[in-house]
Amino acid sequence: MPTCTHVDQVQLLSPREPVEGCAECLATGGRWVHLRMCQICGHVGCCDNSPGRHATAHHAQTGHPIMRSVEPGEDWSWCYEDELMFRLNR
Ligand SMILES: [Zn+2]
Ligand SMILES: [Zn+2]
Ligand SMILES: [Zn+2]
Repeated sequence: MPTCTHVDQVQLLSPREPVEGCAECLATGGRWVHLRMCQICGHVGCCDNSPGRHATAHHAQTGHPIMRSVEPGEDWSWCYEDELMFRLNR
């Protein structure tokens, strides 16, 4: 099994506060489809099905490798560097 080598960078397993929406979309009046949270710094951005693709843009800007879905009932994480989907145990 390939494993993500970046899990030791994870600071947040779940959002610190209730998620209102994609930070950039809220600022610009944009719309999103699904929300993703950066597990390094807590930034919330929108998925690649959203026009803004702000979660991926956040990774491109910061190099933060791991984000997770913050959709209800979803707890998977994704590493951009390793292109791996996995779940982090609490
Ligand atoms: Zn990784
Ligand atoms: Zn967005
Ligand atoms: Zn981040």
